[in-house]
Amino acid sequence: MGEKKRDFMMKRAMNKGTFINASNYKSRWFVLDDSLLTYYDGTLDKQGKQKGCIELRKVKAVETVEDCVLDKKTNVFQVVHGAQKNNDILTLYIVAQSDNQRQDWVQQLRKAAEKSDAQFMPKYHKGVWINGNYTCCNQISKNAIGCEITTTERGRVQSSPPLVIPAPVIPEPSQKKIYVAVYNFTPTEEEDLELIQGEEYEILDDSREHWWRAKSKTGKSGYIPSNYVKKKFDLEMFDWYYKSFTRERSEAVLREEQREGCFLVRESSAPGMFTLSLFTSENDGQVRHYHIKKNDKGFYYIAEKYAFPSISELVHYHKHNSAGLATRLKSPPTRNGTAAPATAGFSSSKFEIDPSEITIGEQLGAGCFGTVHEGKWRGKRVAVKMMKESAMSDDGFIEEAKTMTQLNHNNLVQLYGIVTKKRPLIIVTELMQYGSLLSYLRRHKARLANKTATLLDMCSQVCNGMAYLEKRKFIHRDLAARNCLVGQSTVVKVADFGLARYVIDDEYTSSTGTKFPVKWAPPEVLSFTRFSSKSDVWAYGILMWEIFTGGVMPYDKMKNVEVVDYVCHSRQRLEKPSNCPEKIYKVMLQCWLHEPDKRPSFSDLLQLLGGLLEQGNYPFISTT
Ligand code: ADP
Ligand code: MG
Repeated sequence: MGEKKRDFMMKRAMNKGTFINASNYKSRWFVLDDSLLTYYDGTLDKQGKQKGCIELRKVKAVETVEDCVLDKKTNVFQVVHGAQKNNDILTLYIVAQSDNQRQDWVQQLRKAAEKSDAQFMPKYHKGVWINGNYTCCNQISKNAIGCEITTTERGRVQSSPPLVIPAPVIPEPSQKKIYVAVYNFTPTEEEDLELIQGEEYEILDDSREHWWRAKSKTGKSGYIPSNYVKKKFDLEMFDWYYKSFTRERSEAVLREEQREGCFLVRESSAPGMFTLSLFTSENDGQVRHYHIKKNDKGFYYIAEKYAFPSISELVHYHKHNSAGLATRLKSPPTRNGTAAPATAGFSSSKFEIDPSEITIGEQLGAGCFGTVHEGKWRGKRVAVKMMKESAMSDDGFIEEAKTMTQLNHNNLVQLYGIVTKKRPLIIVTELMQYGSLLSYLRRHKARLANKTATLLDMCSQVCNGMAYLEKRKFIHRDLAARNCLVGQSTVVKVADFGLARYVIDDEYTSSTGTKFPVKWAPPEVLSFTRFSSKSDVWAYGILMWEIFTGGVMPYDKMKNVEVVDYVCHSRQRLEKPSNCPEKIYKVMLQCWLHEPDKRPSFSDLLQLLGGLLEQGNYPFISTT
């Protein structure tokens, strides 16, 4: 390039996360040369003093922000880069004066950075980091991996040589939203559309969260569950991509299949990095983890000699050549047997289920409010909870059930629908093969003792589900190991959320009642019945304690009244379980801070646990 590009534009103050007003923006002269982007103060007439600069080789992404709008300013783009000193990831937001100017700068900056051997990230954030999270994806760590594929990465996928990837990748036609089905979906209602795994669909309306209107290639249209499709070109459209799986979850799933060459790719703990996990039958079967590295051209590799512009090409190559791996890649785990994730309700419109369509089988358990049976509904295995006569206040609950069918997360037991027209009131949910977490912990106590990583992974799964509820301002009110359920590959899901409010029994609802979960309740609930996400956090601390003790009853020998005194007045806490590392016990203690506001939120906890899991190098065990 040699010559300089120079323009007068506005810059948003860095790292200011709280208040946004006009003073957060300053006019600057921006100068781009071969190795630096430098900015100076001054006026339109005169360039002033240097205020800062970015080394182009440290640039990680040059992208627009969502709709090019930020703080009501238009033509905004962002330069993500490593900081001078510590290489922290920083983002500079620049407001161009026109769309042309913006486009021009984005292009030139990218080109110049590429020439300076910048290592572009595969993902970035369209939104900004304000008030402690990203507006685009709600992640709370500033260094959290991006949620959107960068233009540079997309370019790599699209320019992939046809030799390596058999299906040529065709650039997307302009504005159309093309998604690929990752699971089959068989509609039960007329307005819904069948999905065939691997087929493409055009999304016509995505204004509702869980059910989108889509059109198939044959021109049929209807509603589809939004979690059954992934955007074309996204890593997530590949069946081997297990985005947020931890090392432990990957090992569990791969060991369960015991299949040579069974593999998956997941995000590493380091932002923007990926790991390949692979099962080999060597040494009676083991799982190997490989970091996918990037060379100075930005190509991905595991064995340095074989580098590819995209991860999908890398995977494709290693399906045919082991080239340094323990074995060739064969195929990914069969997603939890064959189970597609639960949809939010069985169809786009229905939550009322016709009782004549339910077949009731073997009893799975009984609780305070009724019995739980295995059952079938339109060919699908489900759990059927039959409520005791007058155990629930129906009206409120029926309204609430509508909301609850819309809560949809891999660590929440899905509510499919309810029967309200006939008594008993029936709740139909996702079936969880191994029953309650409490009985699971007790059954496997010996095997799980010391397996810190496995236990920590269970904790972080519950935390994941709870963080989802927290984000939606949904309070559980009865979180405990008995209300979590275990499924295949030790997946743990939270159940019975929100139900507590509709129980009529005083013994359960009054904090002095015999059925009230006193041992899971924080001081503000015991004293003022003040429920919040932070009272759920307290219960979550107790749940962690249950997990690390193998299902011991908290405050074992104490009566409820004694517990109230112990916790609220003497301000004492449960002791550290014997096999529990100090760092993990500290997390529990944070959940049990007297002041609700001082306790961490579930999204804070998720980060804390993730960190512990990665650093810990703890032992773990695979599944049943
Ligand atoms: P509780 O009052 O103990 O929470 P529940 O009625 O929620 O009682 O559940 C009773 C038992 O039924 C649980 O402990 C569990 O073993 C079993 N169960 C409940 N829901 C499911 C489900 N969705 N899948 C499999 N088993 C379940
Ligand atoms: Mg329950």
